[in-house]
Amino acid sequence: MEEGKSIVLPCPRCGKETKPEGNPFRPFCSRRCKLIDLGKWVEGEYVIPSQDDETETEDQE
Ligand SMILES: [Zn+2]
Repeated sequence: MEEGKSIVLPCPRCGKETKPEGNPFRPFCSRRCKLIDLGKWVEGEYVIPSQDDETETEDQE
């Protein structure tokens, strides 16, 4: 067990390694992947409505 260290898990959607720690979109790497998995990404194009972007923190540490 290595608890307390920087855990890195693969995103269930794209497989990108991401740290779940401090990530509001975990277990996904980003909000994009989370939305995809939730089925909100219906058309598969880059058309996320930006009206509910309360926390755009894909790149936080
Ligand atoms: Zn991802």
